[in-house]
Amino acid sequence: MARLTPMMEQYLATKAQVPDALLFFRLGDFYELFMEDAVTAARELEITLTGRANGGAGGDERTPMCGVPHHSAEGYVLRLVEKGYKVAICEQTEEAGAHKGIVRREIVRVVTPGTVMEQKGLQAKANNYLAAVVLRDDVYGLSFCDLSTGEILVVEHDSEQKMLDEMLRHQPAEIIVPFGEKSASYALTLRDLLACVLTEGLEKSHNLARASEVLLSHYGVISVDSFGLANRALSLSAAGMLLAYLDVTQKRNLHHLKMPAYITSDEYMTIDSFSRRNLELVETLRDKGKHGSLLGLLDETVTAMGGRLLRRYVERPLANKLRIEERLDAVEDLYKNLLLRDDIRQLLDAVYDLERLVARVSYGSANARDLQAIGSSLAVLPSLKGRLESAQAPLLQQLGAQVGNFDEIVDLIERAIVDEPPVSIKDGGVIRDGFDDYLDTLKSASRDGKRWLAELEQQEREATGIRSLKVGFNKVFGYYIEVSKSNVANVPATYERKQTLTNGERYVTPGLKEREALILEAEDKMVDLEYQLFVQVRDAVGEVLSQIQAAAEAIATVDVLQSFATVSIRRRYKRPQINTDDRLQIVEGRHPVVEAMLKGEPFVANDSLLNTSDQQIALITGPNMAGKSTYMRQVALIVLLAQMGCYVPADRAEIGIVDRVFTRIGASDDLAGGQSTFMVEMVELANILHHATPRSLIILDEIGRGTSTFDGISIAQAVVEFLHQSPKVGAKTLFATHYHELTTFTESFAGVKHFSTHVQEQDDSIVFLRKIIPQAADRSYGIQVAKLAGLPQEVLTRAREILVELEQGGHGVQDVSHRYPEPTHAPVIVRETAATYEPVVEKTPVAVAAPSAQLSLFDAADHPVVEELRKLDVMRLTPLDAMTLLYQLHQKA
Ligand code: ADP
Repeated sequence: MARLTPMMEQYLATKAQVPDALLFFRLGDFYELFMEDAVTAARELEITLTGRANGGAGGDERTPMCGVPHHSAEGYVLRLVEKGYKVAICEQTEEAGAHKGIVRREIVRVVTPGTVMEQKGLQAKANNYLAAVVLRDDVYGLSFCDLSTGEILVVEHDSEQKMLDEMLRHQPAEIIVPFGEKSASYALTLRDLLACVLTEGLEKSHNLARASEVLLSHYGVISVDSFGLANRALSLSAAGMLLAYLDVTQKRNLHHLKMPAYITSDEYMTIDSFSRRNLELVETLRDKGKHGSLLGLLDETVTAMGGRLLRRYVERPLANKLRIEERLDAVEDLYKNLLLRDDIRQLLDAVYDLERLVARVSYGSANARDLQAIGSSLAVLPSLKGRLESAQAPLLQQLGAQVGNFDEIVDLIERAIVDEPPVSIKDGGVIRDGFDDYLDTLKSASRDGKRWLAELEQQEREATGIRSLKVGFNKVFGYYIEVSKSNVANVPATYERKQTLTNGERYVTPGLKEREALILEAEDKMVDLEYQLFVQVRDAVGEVLSQIQAAAEAIATVDVLQSFATVSIRRRYKRPQINTDDRLQIVEGRHPVVEAMLKGEPFVANDSLLNTSDQQIALITGPNMAGKSTYMRQVALIVLLAQMGCYVPADRAEIGIVDRVFTRIGASDDLAGGQSTFMVEMVELANILHHATPRSLIILDEIGRGTSTFDGISIAQAVVEFLHQSPKVGAKTLFATHYHELTTFTESFAGVKHFSTHVQEQDDSIVFLRKIIPQAADRSYGIQVAKLAGLPQEVLTRAREILVELEQGGHGVQDVSHRYPEPTHAPVIVRETAATYEPVVEKTPVAVAAPSAQLSLFDAADHPVVEELRKLDVMRLTPLDAMTLLYQLHQKA
């Protein structure tokens, strides 16, 4: 086998350090990838795969290779990282020709999905977390870090479910598990559930002793007690493992990382991941978009920092009265004081993403434009501080106090950086005239030199009489004088020939050479000096890193509070009253998102009252599409909004603080991990019944509808009994059901009250009035709703016949309802179905045929439709599939 070239040897040695990353190997102006890496990158980036002879295994074999220009590498790296790859960047770390042999090359950084720092690779209003998890004796230690903002959080949880919930809340892009645990069952669950990159931590890095060592050295403290994490060994282990990973991938000081903060849970309300999804807090169920979610509605933030914090507020409402009131007072101040709010919004508008900008400063990747953005953002802080300190609400005043004074830094940046600096910081053109004397001297030397050259052309033309004589510059020969062929004879003897062209000759003179040396030297020095000066300014900003981070935090908070106030004014929200008792009363409440989405139609407001004594459970009956889900979610959302510290869509609201919100809402479409809808429903229900407390709020929608009617009623009834009677629970509950039987069964329960959504019957159609009335519904109007959904007339007519049969106790009174998917919330028609739906004009007289055995579908045993129905797995049908199928069957029948 032929020997490897020295370059290839170096490549292979480097590649061995990062077996799980694609290696971008710097060769001159390109980053090259070889072998398998090249094949992968060429495929993923759609760039040409070439080959390099004699480079690899030698002989005739060609090593696959591909490359990208270094100046446009960032985009390619980010694309690969977004696809879940890790990319190791290997640079030349010495000048070519510095000594004999091949130049030294080193990996300077490994970019991974959880460690992206580039603005282009990040969403402005979302964090990008790298997570670490350590499991020991059924306890999970977790750590989250957003490298781009410098935040580090830690927490411990005593069950897998809670750990998963925490992960789902942070949506990390990458999770580190301890060395050798990539195939542990929790790791696989995480990978599948979060669809993110799993990385193995460094060997032993999660051991407490090793992890503590890493933490101590990173933060320069002598005892882990400084972190306030006594008895939190597992969270320390997770944080240590995470930092050790950052250390080897980032290979630089990460001074911007703040101290690990423990995520306390008693301050906050707990919302499990089912409820977070069901209530569409940060994204909608249907398209996972922010638009249409509560976050989408509430986001009137002006800065990216505020946007990120708002998301956190929405996902973690408070459970502490003082803190909620504190926020509400601030919102009230901003709500009432229009001038204050306008001023603050305007000032915030001039603030860039300080949090990420200063992170880049400490990371060493900030350029002159970043410094300028920092400078102009800091420049508005004195006015912002003044406005906040003049506000009445103590929280606003505190935030004002938290904003420091950065006059010196602002002045330094203004004096140092030119108005429109280039992207690159290594090619000069960054530092303003007058900032540094020596730089100014060099600049004028270079300017003078250039003027001299310009004059030289004129002088030489006159002296030689050659009118076409030109002075030019190229990289190989430097400055030269060019004379066309026809004039060569007139060239003076002092000219020294340097290069022959087809049309002429190029010359230099001693004078020109001398000037050239001066100019080039000045320019070289200038570029070096500019870079040094730039780094000095950047370091000066780095000195006040933590003060800027504190100001950034205050800015984010003010931004969220003004966003609450802005939305509250726009949507006519009112300040809720917060109590610590068990009472939840809402007068004329509205669903914030549905209300905002209804175009033109009025939203019908409804009252609610729940407490733990005589009105603990509200049992709500009524047809589908009448507004039950909307009503129940509205109660939950109003509670969440209030506990976030925002005003609420209601005329009046008294909120007894809730510790947890649980929901089980129409999971008709989501089949998680191959489980049937019914199974999902029962798992969620089990979670609720195990974890609810008397301070919890539970929303149950159509529990038990995934199974047969009798099973369903039994389960629903047992759940109501449990919630009502179990001394452990007693949680405030809203329970929607289409089983009217349940209303009879629970009549004697003191804490259960019956409600229904008011519907008006008109002939064979119905009008939804959307009003919740204190009485149970007596019918479900399923067929009328099916009519609104546009079912073919024949199916409706036949359904009515069957209904009459069933009601008369005739043929087919067996429990067959489970074979029919419930005509559901059919999302497709929701928007068109107005609250004031007009009765359908076309009126078909209901022909009540005598019960007829021949007409029954289920008697025609050999009909192909029956065969198809038998094969059907009803439990796995989505409502939309069911509708479509029904239509197809109808065509065949
Ligand atoms: P159900 O749970 O009873 O099947 P939904 O709560 O899903 O009904 O309501 C169906 C649709 O009716 C909603 O999507 C919404 O457009 C409309 N709606 C519900 N409640 C109201 C209301 N109070 N005012 C106006 N429209 C409403």
